Amino acid sequence: MTSFEELAKVCTKIENTSSSLEITSVVAGFFKEVDDEELDIVTRFIMGRVFPVWSEKELGIGPNLLYSAIARASCLPIKRIKEFVRDTGDVGLAAEKALSGKVQSNFFTEEELTISEVYLRFRRIAQLTGKGSQDTKVKVLQSLFGSAKPVEIVYLARLSIEELRIGVGEGIVRDAIAEAFNVSSGLVERGIMITNDFGLVASTGKKEGEKGLNELGIILGRPLKMMLSQVTPGIKEAIGEMRSVAVEWKFDGARVQIHKNGKEVTIYSRRLENVTSSLPDIVKSVKANVFAENAILDGEAIALGKDKKPMAFQEILRRFRRKYEVSATAIEIPLFLNLFDILYLNNESLIDHPLSWRRKKLEEVCDKGIIAVQVVTDDISIVENIYKEALMAGHEGVMLKNPGSSYIPGKRGKNWLKLKPIMETLDLIVIGGEWGEGRRANLIGSYLLACRDPDTDTFLPIGRVATGITDEQLTELTKTFKELVISEEGIHVELEPRIVFEVAFEEIQKSPNYESGYALRFPRLVHVRTDKSPGDADTIERVESLYIGQKGRRNSNGNL
Ligand code: AMP
Repeated sequence: MTSFEELAKVCTKIENTSSSLEITSVVAGFFKEVDDEELDIVTRFIMGRVFPVWSEKELGIGPNLLYSAIARASCLPIKRIKEFVRDTGDVGLAAEKALSGKVQSNFFTEEELTISEVYLRFRRIAQLTGKGSQDTKVKVLQSLFGSAKPVEIVYLARLSIEELRIGVGEGIVRDAIAEAFNVSSGLVERGIMITNDFGLVASTGKKEGEKGLNELGIILGRPLKMMLSQVTPGIKEAIGEMRSVAVEWKFDGARVQIHKNGKEVTIYSRRLENVTSSLPDIVKSVKANVFAENAILDGEAIALGKDKKPMAFQEILRRFRRKYEVSATAIEIPLFLNLFDILYLNNESLIDHPLSWRRKKLEEVCDKGIIAVQVVTDDISIVENIYKEALMAGHEGVMLKNPGSSYIPGKRGKNWLKLKPIMETLDLIVIGGEWGEGRRANLIGSYLLACRDPDTDTFLPIGRVATGITDEQLTELTKTFKELVISEEGIHVELEPRIVFEVAFEEIQKSPNYESGYALRFPRLVHVRTDKSPGDADTIERVESLYIGQKGRRNSNGNL
């Protein structure tokens, strides 16, 4: 049995290490050290996860519940705990500050908190539901702090809200498994893509080596990473490359991976979270329209409004996140399935078969009402027509797929190409930011953007950008923005509105979350416009006209 203190020490070491290679070695060393039963837990804890993403178990500890537990354990008022959080910008350090010097109960019992014990207590917390459960959760967490040594407190607090902040992600865990058990990282990656079960891959690598990893197959009830797409250079180029292309609408909805096992149906989101209980209508539809004993299906769930056009993405998200009043929301936002792939059928994996073959199987076992229409062609004008139809119907564009290609989980390859209208960019002013986490803790990693309201001479927030920025750029930008900080609260900084970012995005959406009333979908930084001053930034009118333009384009006769 390994103590939680060991894990805490490893985390401290990682926090003080900047090289990814060294971090990987530290993690690998720890993987080698822990018992077989603990390996599964440790592969997740080290990434700040308590349960596997695909599990329906949820810890359900929010910051307030955590503050209450720290407050009770330290006999300090919650207000004081919140001040510590504000001062340190970190719940772990705040907990340490609050609890330092307090007599720990294990001081008397000399009982060590083990990794398994911490997991069991978290599992107990996750099982608590209903009346009085919040209070019991606080008590369990409080007692956990009561048994912890100072070095453990920091990581217990962070882990309880699943934000470990030590910069260890899936890539490092993958490489660490390979290093620890002397197996190829390609095979470890394959295992993770197929089973999405880090613990299983680690213990297979440990006990059965490369042979065992090679034999790891799809497991019904464990989501596979989803195959992803690239932007196509053009229809002609795609046809040139693939000879004939399988064309499907690129639906404006949310990805779902459906596992059917007899009468049991489980649905996973793009992030591989188990969303089954939020989507009873999809479950019903699968039960009625899929005629296979067991299967794994891939597709897009769309919500259609009264006008038969897809509803805004946020509406779909409301469905995916719904925990209560699920059926009422299902009536308000009805979802429809468009399946486009089948990865597993009657106990056999299909992913190594070509798409054209998988498509035949899909048609054999599903009612065509839930399958996305697919046309295989080498004729540019046919593709163009389908593209126009898709846009007219309010969808995003088309997917061009290679009919001869296998399904590669987690891969953003050339065999799935997306074609959609290119949006213009917006020049927006940076008015705030957020400090990063782990190794990026000393960098401002995400920026709050605003457009101009010339009438009131104010800046209206419209979203955040964190992608499209290189590490070098981030360091430079942090230097610049440090000079412009007006105020700071926790990780949030308010910045003087001086710098203009040119930002690309996939779509403008209406949003109640930002003062402008709009939000950008998938924003990314294109350029820092040092040539522009805040007065040159785009106005709310331009945002509005782009928004209307994009709707118009969708509703038009296909004239793009
Ligand atoms: P993107 O997120 O822009 O990289 O595009 C890939 C996403 O498009 C997938 O993850 C799906 O959610 C979505 N999508 C919509 N229609 C299709 C389709 N026919 N085939 C594959 N993906 C699709």
